[in-house]
Amino acid sequence: MLYLDGSLGEGGGQVLRTALGLSLVTGTAFVIEKIRAGREQPGLKRQHLTAVLAAAEVGSAQVEGATLGSMRLAFKPKALRAGDYRFAIGTAGSTTLVLQTILPALLAADGPSTVELVGGTHNPMAPPFDFLQHAFAPVLHRMGASLGLQLRTHGFYPAGGGQWRATIAKAAWTPCELLTRQEKPQFRARIVLAKIPQHVGEREAATLRARLGLRGDEVTIEEVASVGPGNVVMLRLGFGAVTEVVSALGERSVRAEDVAAQVADEAGTLLAANVPVGEHLADQLLIPMALAGGGAFRTLPPSRHTTTNAQVIEQFLPVLFTMREDQRQPGSWVVSVRPR
Ligand code: AMP
Repeated sequence: MLYLDGSLGEGGGQVLRTALGLSLVTGTAFVIEKIRAGREQPGLKRQHLTAVLAAAEVGSAQVEGATLGSMRLAFKPKALRAGDYRFAIGTAGSTTLVLQTILPALLAADGPSTVELVGGTHNPMAPPFDFLQHAFAPVLHRMGASLGLQLRTHGFYPAGGGQWRATIAKAAWTPCELLTRQEKPQFRARIVLAKIPQHVGEREAATLRARLGLRGDEVTIEEVASVGPGNVVMLRLGFGAVTEVVSALGERSVRAEDVAAQVADEAGTLLAANVPVGEHLADQLLIPMALAGGGAFRTLPPSRHTTTNAQVIEQFLPVLFTMREDQRQPGSWVVSVRPR
């Protein structure tokens, strides 16, 4: 039995999600206290509760404390089961984070699985569906794990109602290194509008073209059906071995130009650092690399998410992470994992 402190490091939902995923993979029971103590509304929100219930179903787990607002959870998995699952958050909470929770387990299970998800697909502070599709899943594939993704409907805060499906097979893990990249990336911007005037998309596109020198054919504006209104600007940066996706969500009180400028700023940081892996992909690659028993990538200075995630992973798996700045290339870090 492992005891975890949910207020560790970054103090958000990451500690809980990583613990649930690796508890299922390793069969280790755990108790977590002070869940999301670092957040304004601490404890389990609906998205986290859905993740807990999803993990419990996948692992036939015994669970205590699975209620909204709960700051303590006891989780004891029994048997991991591949299968056909459906999880609906009931709000616009992030469905991609629910999948992130159970993915390590379904990649370890004997047999194929499908997961239908209902809720938010493009949320603040979570990977947008397109990030999973273009950044995360291709790297998984290089590591011997297959994650198929099909988006049916976009779902935005606050209405939600997005729907998609993941197809997962048992992984044959192989370590991978992502240390270099093409200097000049291939750009592809996708601007999505749901029940939002077209001029918003056009102003975002103009900002991206002006700030990053994108050609007209590198930017698409797409109007999609969704239960509620929504707008997201996503930029793919094809670096050769890795594709990164940087994104920003439109908000009622934020000008379209400023939404696109957030994307341009984040892309600028990544381009200037000459690293293949950005801040978010970095924290999301740690579990796959640990399960593969090794690997390394070059990235921006590690976020608290990344360092916290590494600490939690080391409690469940016999691996050791190292994170070092490259003295020859200040601002560029190499994160690596090896068996302990
Ligand atoms: P938490 O804040 O602990 O609930 O975790 C948020 C998770 O979402 C982390 O894995 C982040 O890397 C990820 N995330 C947040 N924003 C983005 C983004 N714009 N693109 C991709 N992943 C993101």
